[in-house]
Amino acid sequence: TKDVRSKEEILKKRKDTIGSKCQIFYSDDPFMVSRASMQYLYDEKGNKFLDCISNVQHVGHCHPKVVEAISKQLATSTCNVRFVSTQLTDCAEQILATLPGLDTVLFCNSGSEANDLALRLARDYTKHKDAIVIEHAYHGHVTTTMELSPYKFDHGSTVSQPDWVHVAPCPDVYRGKHRLEDEDLQNEEKLYAAGKQYSDDVKSILDTVESKNRGVAAYFAEALQSCGGQVIPPKDYFKDVASHVRNHGGLMVIDEVQTGFGRIGRKYWAHQLYDDGFVPDIVTMGKPMGNGFPVSAVATRKEIADALGGEVGYFNTYGGNPVACAAVISVMKVVKEENLLEHSQSMGEKLEVALRDLQKKHECIGDIRGVGLFWGIDLVKDRVTREPDQKLAIQTILALRKSSGILLNADGPNTNILKIKPPLCFNSDNILETVTALDEVLTLLKR
Ligand code: PMP
Repeated sequence: TKDVRSKEEILKKRKDTIGSKCQIFYSDDPFMVSRASMQYLYDEKGNKFLDCISNVQHVGHCHPKVVEAISKQLATSTCNVRFVSTQLTDCAEQILATLPGLDTVLFCNSGSEANDLALRLARDYTKHKDAIVIEHAYHGHVTTTMELSPYKFDHGSTVSQPDWVHVAPCPDVYRGKHRLEDEDLQNEEKLYAAGKQYSDDVKSILDTVESKNRGVAAYFAEALQSCGGQVIPPKDYFKDVASHVRNHGGLMVIDEVQTGFGRIGRKYWAHQLYDDGFVPDIVTMGKPMGNGFPVSAVATRKEIADALGGEVGYFNTYGGNPVACAAVISVMKVVKEENLLEHSQSMGEKLEVALRDLQKKHECIGDIRGVGLFWGIDLVKDRVTREPDQKLAIQTILALRKSSGILLNADGPNTNILKIKPPLCFNSDNILETVTALDEVLTLLKR
């Protein structure tokens, strides 16, 4: 039977039963989902919206092949991970085939858990305790990962920065410590020089840590910082950081929770973007891998995994359960069958052309940054000072929903970056629709 309860009734119930601190999109008029299909979400009245927010539903909301694989496994077995299942090993094998240089996978249920496990792996292996993270980084909501997240501990969280966490400057050439002029933002030589300055900053943190007789177990970073401002580090930055971190005896942990599985185009992983041979010691992954079914993982090398946990080892009731693994296997199958890496790449190239045109027309677009189907539009009050325009970003996302049926989110440390990260089935018509609507809305708001 059809659920006839009104949105008001559900919102009231939500207010009564769900903690007031639970975040919600469009808090003044929350979006209630009645159903979802591929790149579209439908509200409680059945109105259709183009979804540029849901990077988790990677190959499309309720993709029939993923739904079928999950349902089939759900009706077959959901057993505890201490039993043997073919899904677990098949899934690990397929993930590792995309990660040359790594040979072992440990499964968990969320990105936060994966990063927490990565920290423990690094500590157990290196026998060091400390971690280096990047300004504005977000690595998860559990207590240890909150402690690794300036995005939280610098913004009013009750969790504060512990003495074992050291914050390195964000390798952001637009708004970071070592900035480039607008005309140099695509200049390879200048980018390389800025990247070197940023990796030297990490080296000096390591020197300070050593001088205090402490040790860094892990350098944590997203290969492309997402919540923290849609930042693509310059070429060679990670290679240089890796050499400093490894000389010190630490490990490189790359958080691919947002950026993996073809989000950034032709490459399966964002750390492979530059094809420079950089291989992390640990890669964490989550969000897109289950297309909405909760699953995450840590990929690493055997000697690191073997150092974990002493006598007690590792056990996680749901991490790697056969249903989760069936979801991942089917997501990877769809990515391959539907050629989604190439699609994400070519849509990214189209989107870039359209966004650069939009930037020429609108002074309020200070910068656009992205690759594949992962873009940020940095809104500014002034192109010279690059002062973030949070108000305009919020007004824009509200107007896009109302006037054009497009769902977009604003993010970054100043909440001024419009993020485009739709399911990978997003197509050329969707690009046109989104960019045209953005053009209209920005024209109207800046009038
Ligand atoms: N790492 C990154 C980069 C993330 O963006 C997130 C979630 N936004 C997490 C970790 C945490 O993942 P989860 O919410 O699945 O715990």
